[in-house]
Amino acid sequence: MVVTWGSEVPERGLFVGRFQPPHKGHMEAIKWIFKNGGVDELIVAIGSAQESHTLRNPFTAGERMEMLRMALAEYNVSLSSVLIVPVPDIAMNFVWVRYLEMLLPRFYVVFSRNPLVVRLFREYGYKVVSPPSFERERYSATVIRKLMLDGNEAWRELVPYSVAKYIDDIGGLDRIRSIAGRD
Ligand code: NAD
Repeated sequence: MVVTWGSEVPERGLFVGRFQPPHKGHMEAIKWIFKNGGVDELIVAIGSAQESHTLRNPFTAGERMEMLRMALAEYNVSLSSVLIVPVPDIAMNFVWVRYLEMLLPRFYVVFSRNPLVVRLFREYGYKVVSPPSFERERYSATVIRKLMLDGNEAWRELVPYSVAKYIDDIGGLDRIRSIAGRD
């Protein structure tokens, strides 16, 4: 806890991602952050929140938020220690960190393996910690979306059970395949 203005503020960290869709690598990284990152609370910022219905970004920010909440519950991460915030992209990388400081509650440490994200936060003087890779070549949203598009059921093994069920429920596979269609 950090004491400011007489009130206690949790040691809060930030984890940014697109989560298109949330997968087991993301969940292992979040578990690792709570175990090793020295934080009581984690902001999970859903980046590219304005994007949906494209092959790279098939799911809306709201859908990604629902999937993350279900997956966190499935992984026994307390929802009261995670703040999920959708964040639309902006055209100016240089001021992106200041923009996040405006939108988000205060955070003291950033967790990311994305080189651009790491670079931008370090330039602003933030402590940035990179969680280890959890089978990155397999647990990759790009790989998962490609399997979905190809009709390969192997994608189901790469996401939490609740995420696979949610994608079925909203007709996610049909969405991805119809987006890829030609006129
Ligand atoms: P992502 O969903 O690919 O990954 C989220 C995090 O999880 C990353 O740190 C990634 O390295 C980590 N991760 C993924 N798989 C893992 C695995 N198997 N093991 C361990 N860690 C794993 O999201 P991302 O591409 O990193 O998201 C960055 C977001 O920030 C994007 O939405 C991007 O648009 C946004 N952004 C915006 C601006 C701007 O608006 N100017 C600038 C920079 C970044």
